[in-house]
Amino acid sequence: MTAVDLGLPLPSLIPASRAPAPVDGPLRDTFGRVATDLRVSVTDRCNLRCTYCMPADGLDWLPTDGVLNTEEFVRVLTVAVRDLGIRTIRFTGGEPLLRRDLEEIITRVSRLPERPGIAMTTNGLGLGRRVHGLTAAGLTRVNVSLDTVDPARFAEITRRDRLADVLDGLAAARAAGLDPVKVNAVVPDRSDLDGLAALFGFCLREGYQLRVIEQMPLDADHRWDRTAMVTAAEILEALRHVADLTPDDVPRAGAPAQTWLVDGHTDAAGRRARVGVIASVTRPFCGDCDRTRLTADGALRNCLFAENETSLLPVLRGGEGDVDAAIARLWRENTWAKRAGHSVNSGDFRQPERPMSAIGG
Ligand code: SAM
Ligand code: SF4
Repeated sequence: MTAVDLGLPLPSLIPASRAPAPVDGPLRDTFGRVATDLRVSVTDRCNLRCTYCMPADGLDWLPTDGVLNTEEFVRVLTVAVRDLGIRTIRFTGGEPLLRRDLEEIITRVSRLPERPGIAMTTNGLGLGRRVHGLTAAGLTRVNVSLDTVDPARFAEITRRDRLADVLDGLAAARAAGLDPVKVNAVVPDRSDLDGLAALFGFCLREGYQLRVIEQMPLDADHRWDRTAMVTAAEILEALRHVADLTPDDVPRAGAPAQTWLVDGHTDAAGRRARVGVIASVTRPFCGDCDRTRLTADGALRNCLFAENETSLLPVLRGGEGDVDAAIARLWRENTWAKRAGHSVNSGDFRQPERPMSAIGG
């Protein structure tokens, strides 16, 4: 479907400067935003096939030797934290637990003197077996993706019959003391809104914090359809059928989720329960964006929807002289080129070539 201009809010940012990218300091863009949060896709491969993300047959995976190895990831992340002011790193994918060296990467990054916060977004498969090693390595936060607690619907959405494994992973994360344990949900279809209510009830009972994400045009099949997309308003209405919600007064800062306190419920740590909705399409939060991204094959992206990216591979693998300085320079330039916001709501929107699984959600 052709994108239409819905007159939805777009950032009204004015470029602060047309000067060249800064040669030192943190990752600034021309609109005055500073990127301090890094999403790292450690692999484009996955063991599920969620319909809104991957085709049934998977994708043409990146060749193994085209993906950053342990040393390369540690080197790039060290530059990010030591030289570029990155304060939080979230490992994602594809499915990050498919990387056997994830514990090693996390261990080495968490030993940096400027130790960043370390989080992971995972589909939860195998988390039960790995969670103790990951927390020992330095993982402090986890989001587990789960769209439904109905086994048949789970198998339809993910094209795999693995709900029990995801539930085990979630329980293991909670038992390991990760706090909060967040559940990321996408609502693929309006007929899933009743299932969303059931998922919310499950999260409240188990002490997990639910985050519901509007579906974005990043599916490999290019089937995203604005009229079929379940909006944040519809999501909120479904959540309100389960419990009364009070707007949260915690400042959002760069966080994409708008959050609510759930009346009459507490989380696993005994605090007021919260629920969040991420309205990436109907209420973009680009004006407060503090993110930068690194793909498994070493490309820097300043936005999920960026049309251009900067590959670090040539300097990482063939660079002469001060490679770390070259990585930092390319990263500052990539961030400097960041646009005011994504154009999903405008007529000239073009879906990026990389699907969500190869960018890192
Ligand atoms: N495999 C891991 C997982 O599912 O958590 C990490 C990668 S996945 C791409 C990261 C997050 O992106 C998941 O929470 C998933 O639900 C979300 N996601 C995938 N495709 C999406 C889309 N088209 N729109 C919105 N969110 C999407
Ligand atoms: Fe895999 Fe995550 Fe995409 Fe689902 S959303 S197919 S689990 S990468």
